Parts: sequence; C-alpha cells; structure tokens
Amino acid sequence: MKKAIFVDRDGTLLKEPADEQIDSLEKVEFVPGAISGLKALADLGYELVMASNQDGLGTPAFPEETFWPAQNLLLKTLEGEGIRFDNILIDRSFPEENSPCRKPRTGMFGPYLDGSYDLPACWVIGDRETDLQLAANLGARGLQLGPLSWADIVDIIRSSSAAGQAPSSANKKADAPSKGIAPPTAGPAAVRSAVVERKTAETDICVRVDLDGKGPSGVDTGLKFLDHMLTQLIHHGGIGLEIRCKGDLEVDEHHTMEDVAIALGEALRRALGDKRGIDRYGFALPMDESRALVLLDFGGRAELVWDVQFTREYVGDVPTEMFHHFFKSLSNAMQANLYIQARGENNHHLAEGIFKAFARTLKQAVRRNPFSYDLPSSKGLL
Ligand SMILES: [Mg+2]
Repeated sequence: MKKAIFVDRDGTLLKEPADEQIDSLEKVEFVPGAISGLKALADLGYELVMASNQDGLGTPAFPEETFWPAQNLLLKTLEGEGIRFDNILIDRSFPEENSPCRKPRTGMFGPYLDGSYDLPACWVIGDRETDLQLAANLGARGLQLGPLSWADIVDIIRSSSAAGQAPSSANKKADAPSKGIAPPTAGPAAVRSAVVERKTAETDICVRVDLDGKGPSGVDTGLKFLDHMLTQLIHHGGIGLEIRCKGDLEVDEHHTMEDVAIALGEALRRALGDKRGIDRYGFALPMDESRALVLLDFGGRAELVWDVQFTREYVGDVPTEMFHHFFKSLSNAMQANLYIQARGENNHHLAEGIFKAFARTLKQAVRRNPFSYDLPSSKGLL
C-alpha cells in the first residue's frame, strides 16, 4: 500500500503574513528548517502532497495572478533542492462556504481514500490545530509545527519509518486533536536511553543513560573523586546520567572503577542504537596549568591510546593508576576508539581536564543531526 505525507503550505512551508494571504513575492519567506526537513523526508518512501486552503483564490479578494508568482517561486526553490510534490491540492473556498473540500474536511483527498493508501501510516504536517483535525479525519497521524520544530518532525517520521512502527492508536477520529501532536519520543528509535544493571561478587551497579539529557541525574559510586569526575559528564556532556554502585571498597578501588566503566560504556553503546546521525569527534581544553585532549570514534572497535602521566599516587580517594584502567574498560565496553592525552603539573587538574574533555567530546559525538541520517562510515555499519 502507498503512503503519503500531506504538508500544509502557509505557516508550515512559508511564513504566514499577518493578513494570511501570500499574494506577492515580498511575502515569500520560508519557515526555518522547512526545506531541509522536506528534503530529509523525500527519501523515506512517502508520496509528498501539498495540501492548502487558499481563501477565495480566483476571486477579486485573491486574484490568480497574485497567487502564482509566489507559488511558483516556492516550487522552483524546492525543485532546486531536489524536492518535488507528487500532488498539490488547493481548496479555493471561503471559510463561510463550509465547503466539503476545505481542510480539515477531506473532500479534496478523495484519491487517497480509495483504499490504496495505508492511511494510519500517513502523516499530516501543519501549523494549526485544524491540521491535526485533518489528520484525525483522514485516519492519519498529525504533527503540529510550533509545538514541534521541523527537526522534531523529521525525527519522529524517520524514527517511526525505521522502526516499522505499528500505527499509534492516538489520533483516530474520535480523539481530540491535541492527541495528534505526536511527542518527539513517539518512535522507539527516537528514545536514546539505556539502563544497565550489573551485579557480581565484587560490585552491584545500576547505570541509566539518556543521551538527550532527560531523566534523573546523580552519581554515587562510593568514591568521592570518581563521583566528582563522572558528574562532569552530566554538566559538560549534556546527558542524563544516573550511576549507583556498591563495590568492595574494603578490598580496594579496582573493581568499583573497572565495573562502573564497563556498565557506563555498555549503557552508552546501547543508548546510541545504530549510531545513525552521529560522527567522530574530539575536544581539547585547558584547565589552569593543564591541558587535555580526547579523541573519540564510535567505530565499533575498541582501542585506547593513553598518554598521561600522574605524579601522585592518589587524587582524593582514587588511585591515579586506575584512570588508565577506567578508560580502557570504558573504551572496550563502548566499542569505541579513545585517544587521551594530557599534560600538566596538578594531578587534580589533569584528571578533571580529561573527564571534562571526554564529556565535551561525547556531547559532540552523540549529538544527532536529524537532517544527516547517514551512518558516518563508508562500510555502512558501525
Ligand atoms: Mg497553515
């Protein structure tokens, strides 16, 4: 069965002027993100359909010759970006005529209602509540620009397509239009979080990671300085992170640090999913007399290059030799290559600089660009 995305024009592709009538070239201004958004949607196997109410088009209130230059400029601009509509539906009635073809009524959508389209898998994108009502009337899903950005909309449709998600029960005809606003996390693939619980004779650990920064955050490993370091991932990495560890600190710090790194690395790897839209990154930062450089590649292979020398045995309650082991374990569990170099005098600054640089690198690396959904690898797999 065929699938379509029905896109409203005014207020969704073009900014809507105060008089709600785009009747001159001066009034043509794209909604930010609209072109990139449409382009990103063009490859997902949907037909692209523009559906627009143009009140009184062809009457003295809105003469044809004032409409077409703007419409043609819109279409030409989009064509230049490789975006072509499979169909364009325009209703010309005035609101007071109550035409059955005026959105949110479905009169002009006849060809899409003959059973050849999988309507629950279709989408309506618009800027008004009535666009969501249209979606409900069609039995399709609706996304409202305003509460959602174009980037959100692309994300939701793409996640839903990638996951082969069963149509949501929301937004059926009986439902209120507000339910048609699909939340940004509507598709399972859009949720980038993971929980890892790891229990051995030596440690009992729970790690929750949310790469998009939602959820509770807090770190308690039993090692104060390690808590201080891992908290940098929340502040400087912009991720949601909760770590609880009860380790055999009466033996020493080794198992706690190693196992926290393993659980954290596994949680990060799981939360990243198939790694689409991410990239390889690095970050360097100074910290007083110290400087730290971290390079990170989620390429599916684990390697740590460690170029750091501590001159003290301990920083706080953490043995400095364990930092190497921590990042080695993390790199293995994340299946990522890590290059870490730091120079400086003060051992606290050295350690903190490394964790901050790692946090910043991680932030860049996991940031999702919904307009660039390619895998950052020529091999097609990470
Ligand atoms: Mg509109």
